[in-house]
Amino acid sequence: MNTKYKGIKASNGIAIGTIYLFNREEVAIDKSEITDSMVEEEKLRVKNSIDDYINELNDRKGASEAQIHIADAHKELLQDPYFSDTINSKIENEHKNSELALNETINEMVEIMSQLDDEYLKERASDYKDIGYQLMYKLKGIKPKDLSLIDEESIIISKELTPSDTSNMNKENVVGFATDLGGKTSHTSIIAQTLDIPALVGMNDISKKVKNGQKAIIDGNESFIILDPSEELLKEYEKKLEEQEKKRNRLSQVKDKKAETTDGKHIEVSANIGNIEDLKIAIENGCDGVGLFRTELLYMENDHFPTEDEQFEVYKEATELLGQKPLIIRTLDIGGDKGLDYFDFPKEDNPFLGYRAIRLCLDREDIFITQLKALIRASAYGNILIMIPMVINISEFKRSLELIDDIKKEFEEKGIDYNKDLQVGIMVETPASVFMADQFIKYVDFFSIGTNDLSQYTLAVDRGNENINNLYNNFNPAVLRAIKHVIDESHKAGKWTGMCGQFASDTEATKLLLGLGLDEFSASSSKVAEVKDTILKSSLKEEEEFSNSLLELETVEEIEEKIKNHNNM
Ligand code: PEP
Ligand code: MG
Repeated sequence: MNTKYKGIKASNGIAIGTIYLFNREEVAIDKSEITDSMVEEEKLRVKNSIDDYINELNDRKGASEAQIHIADAHKELLQDPYFSDTINSKIENEHKNSELALNETINEMVEIMSQLDDEYLKERASDYKDIGYQLMYKLKGIKPKDLSLIDEESIIISKELTPSDTSNMNKENVVGFATDLGGKTSHTSIIAQTLDIPALVGMNDISKKVKNGQKAIIDGNESFIILDPSEELLKEYEKKLEEQEKKRNRLSQVKDKKAETTDGKHIEVSANIGNIEDLKIAIENGCDGVGLFRTELLYMENDHFPTEDEQFEVYKEATELLGQKPLIIRTLDIGGDKGLDYFDFPKEDNPFLGYRAIRLCLDREDIFITQLKALIRASAYGNILIMIPMVINISEFKRSLELIDDIKKEFEEKGIDYNKDLQVGIMVETPASVFMADQFIKYVDFFSIGTNDLSQYTLAVDRGNENINNLYNNFNPAVLRAIKHVIDESHKAGKWTGMCGQFASDTEATKLLLGLGLDEFSASSSKVAEVKDTILKSSLKEEEEFSNSLLELETVEEIEEKIKNHNNM
């Protein structure tokens, strides 16, 4: 009774249900060789199964944004000529039958993707596996198990769930799931978050430890599953589940509302994104815009510096998806812990204090100009704002503006359209930019505080160092004073300040930041509704008084204690 297994959190929340053990139909692959006369027929079988699958993916009735995105991702892989050419070459040149040729090609793709360093790209291996299953079922004429038909209140346990499995789940009946494989950034995890189903991944051999029909609890908040819970534990979790339902209902009501304090200050609640997929999820979660588009992912997923046209297409698609809602795009922030396979970074003792972000961009203006041109061109299609990271000197910002102005002039001459009111701001994430805020504000249109780095540099605490984890704290009075100073300087000049560091997603800090005068929160998608909910229930005047009183305190502990009491009032 009460047997507990730990996993990796894919999606928050509590689920109580009955285990449904999902085993994929294992299909035996025909290994027989084919003759010359069969080559064309086998190639046609592959082509037909690919066409069939694409047709299925084109049927979007009732599909959510995230499902549509997975369908698009699969279509892109299926339409990649390299994929079909590899299969066809195995059939033609090696006389392999269609099943074997498909199976080998999928295994090779999965192998290549799994070996990549980038965690996000690594997870794309599961998309290839998924495509492999779907095409193989078609070649074999097998109808796969349908997860939309399972019984009520089921917790699905499986070795692995492909993106199609997860997107086919009937949310009414599936209350949670846990898998042996998978990581935090897998499509499976993303879908679980969008569907708001508690889920755990990376549970090693959980599928071997459970039986069909067994009672279980998933605690997605604490990242464990409990098998055969006692009556007492069940009661405890039923209570938690009730509270969770109440909170979910309330948040689903507020997610699309404008966040306004009880005394009438409107606050933008935007989201942080790394790509179009994140953006679609952010929109479903009710974001008022995007406060940080981390463009480095675009560079990290490529094997070359993305061209102006390649970047333009992405920025244009993003801004069109948002309509007139703001899309703040950060220029390339590479270096530090973020490398590129195709660029030789210098060996450095302190890469976080080294050749990165705007420093690299101003040293390699060719790279910077390519991105700025793509951004300025895309600005004609929506409401794009440009944001420069890691700035320490006014001259860095002035040079960036010069480059932007030169591009605008060039576009004027060539008749290329762009937004004449394009706003350009900086991330405030270095103590230098905090101390110089009164000077910077003369030139920038806005500030966005990057607390992830600002806390690291203000406190001299490496944000990724486990040994000093306890010292890395956004509630440190020095960080709070820095935030307050930056906001005040922007307001004095009639401009605005947002925050795109993780602190903006910390709902324990929402009232505090509101009181410090923050104008825009850019949070993780999953936190947008909760931040809005807190703002809607707060009075700016009261929070200002409270926040100002905190700035007088001396220690993190005092601040955290006071905030806890204040938030629970
Ligand atoms: C930050 O530093 O707060 C930030 C948002 O940037 P990143 O986490 O990408 O360094
Ligand atoms: Mg940063």
